[in-house]
Amino acid sequence: MSMLDKLRGHLPEPCFDGKTIWIDGEWRAARQGSTFTNVSPIDGSRLFDVARGQEEDVDAAVAPAKATAPAWHAIGGAARARILRALAMAIRNAAASLGLAETIDAGRPIALTGASGPQRAADLVEFYAGLADKISGRVYDMPAGQSASMVREPYGVIAAITPWNYPLSNALTKLAPILACGNTVVLKPAEQTPLVTMILPELLRKAGMPDGVVNVVTGLGQEAGVALVSHPDVELISFTGSTETGRRIAALAGEHLKGVVLELGGKSPFVVFDDADIDRAADAAVFTTFMNQGQTCTSCSRIIVQRNVLDDFLARCRAKLAKVRFGDPLDPMTQVGPVVSKQQMDRITRLTDGIVPVPLDLDCFRPTDGGYFVKPLIAVDFDPESAFARSEIFGPAMSIRTFDDDAEAFRLANDTEYGLAGSCWTSSLARAEMAKSSIQAGVIWINCVHVLTPAVPVSGHKSSGIGIEYGIDAVEQYMRVKSVVTLASGWTSPFA
Ligand code: ADP
Repeated sequence: MSMLDKLRGHLPEPCFDGKTIWIDGEWRAARQGSTFTNVSPIDGSRLFDVARGQEEDVDAAVAPAKATAPAWHAIGGAARARILRALAMAIRNAAASLGLAETIDAGRPIALTGASGPQRAADLVEFYAGLADKISGRVYDMPAGQSASMVREPYGVIAAITPWNYPLSNALTKLAPILACGNTVVLKPAEQTPLVTMILPELLRKAGMPDGVVNVVTGLGQEAGVALVSHPDVELISFTGSTETGRRIAALAGEHLKGVVLELGGKSPFVVFDDADIDRAADAAVFTTFMNQGQTCTSCSRIIVQRNVLDDFLARCRAKLAKVRFGDPLDPMTQVGPVVSKQQMDRITRLTDGIVPVPLDLDCFRPTDGGYFVKPLIAVDFDPESAFARSEIFGPAMSIRTFDDDAEAFRLANDTEYGLAGSCWTSSLARAEMAKSSIQAGVIWINCVHVLTPAVPVSGHKSSGIGIEYGIDAVEQYMRVKSVVTLASGWTSPFA
């Protein structure tokens, strides 16, 4: 059965005819009728002719978002919370379809997309549902006869532009806080992975979301993406993706004086001291580097290990990697699938070209025919100024450097333009405290990695972003502040 046939019954019928743009409760083709093809990274087969939205499609999507914004705010937080809770339930019920779509589209193993992915996405939506009716302002202490208060108001229409590495989670990490505080949305998913966002509209409808509050425009970054960022009625852009594209979006948004929330790239450090539990550290290093084929912005694949434990640590990493099951992501036993696209495969190959890898036992590496697989790589010997050492590879590549003393460890940890995440392994409380204060990053994991809940915020430092994802604090950035001052006693002009 072809990958496309496997999807029948899981995606809305109009999407199979190129109607993948969702505006005001209706599936539509692009106004000009143009499409682009998306393929499955599992076998390179053609999946969908996806509507290639352009400026006029963006105009058509922003109009209902603008029209419905006042009413969506006016129903109040409790009513919005009810709808978001129903959405979380609908996501849980649709886990099988969401998982299959994400696996076929992005290559993430079904063991992750089919159960835990939708579960985590639903938890996140519930977290923000819980905040929707708790939005509040402030009242200030003023002299008698005067009052002053501040209220928070939604912006109106917000554009959410998302990448391809975790399509469901990327979309809901934006939508949930944006909607909870009463904004409406136009979502543009990545061109490589539009399938999950073809399922979402039906779930929103089941949850009772009014038409027009969420609209989806499929299309290319240079066309639909740029049109969204420059649209006069889009008040703020929430983007997750590469630092390069984030810079371009921020520059264009700057011209229009719009706000941006940017969750960008990383090249996160993983520091291993000689007093650490080396076996656990090796487990974590292999997981953070190779899960999702390295296509995780918070991946801590830049390993910095104390020289006297390098041999032990490396031997353990090699042994653990030899047991990781790379292969067909539709097989429930698979732990790592293909990378998302041929372009991404070529990019990783370019960045790792000429790097001398440590010999690895790759018996468990079983690529599918035509699948976009990249062999895992561990390198110890490389130029620290090379693109391999400095760029975000977004692929299955671990770089290892050594240090002799604590100061050097933290200097190397921060020797990057990025600051998204960091992981530090030690049994010393003093070193753990030092890691907390020294590593410049939005989230630091001590003796663990990738432990996140919806409540824990992540905010990129340096070139890793502006603004916050997850947590209570993500809500306020999607609202403006308005102050109101009242004088009951009558106002006298200083000119009088
Ligand atoms: P990658 O380089 O890893 O493919 P990007 O960061 O370029 O990822 O893309 C992430 C998202 O940003 C995608 O939805 C893409 O279509 C969109 N995008 C790309 N370029 C632009 C742009 N100039 N303006 C707005 N959106 C863009």
